[in-house]
Amino acid sequence: ACISRSRSCTSSSAGEPAEPESPYRVVLLGASGVGKTAFASIFAGAADSMDSDDCELCGGEEKIKTTVDGEPATITLVDTWDTEQHMQTGDAYLLLYSITDRTSFLRASELRITLRRFCPAQNTPIILVGNKCDLVRRREVSATEGRACAAVFDCKFIETSAAMQHNIWEAFHGIVRQLRLRRDSREA
Ligand code: GDP
Repeated sequence: ACISRSRSCTSSSAGEPAEPESPYRVVLLGASGVGKTAFASIFAGAADSMDSDDCELCGGEEKIKTTVDGEPATITLVDTWDTEQHMQTGDAYLLLYSITDRTSFLRASELRITLRRFCPAQNTPIILVGNKCDLVRRREVSATEGRACAAVFDCKFIETSAAMQHNIWEAFHGIVRQLRLRRDSREA
């Protein structure tokens, strides 16, 4: 049975986002061609290698159990073309651009602004991800620019290469850490 949740991040009666419990619902956002499918494939590959009890594929969403800092976490990954619909259903967001494509970097900024509309809470975990960092000669966006943009947007930053499988799990684990920080700050 599919146990993935689908809910709005602004749905609680108090107007505050409901506290996400694992499974965490992570949405991939970004312009076409930045590597969302490649990210999802790596994730799906990890799911495929697990026992059937540990992963499920439902409605195009992939779910895996992993361990982050010694604590189990379940992540449901949503890779979608229907950006606006899924902006309302995530606990956290990976906002991808390609370091070889400045237009995709600008698109990431637009998406961050749109996301703020859908998820106005300050502490919605978002990581700005500069993908394709293996393509050094085709770089159009420096890591410094990426980091500065993330600082303005009040989110974390990481450069990845889906082709080289570099920093992909760091990105997913970073999201889980942020979700836990938010959980722990509310429990305190
Ligand atoms: P999407 O439209 O965002 O889903 O992008 P895709 O995952 O389909 O990737 C678009 C193209 O970029 C494909 O040809 C991928 O093989 C390639 N690609 C994705 N990530 C990387 C990467 O990290 N490095 C390199 N060199 N190519 C990548």
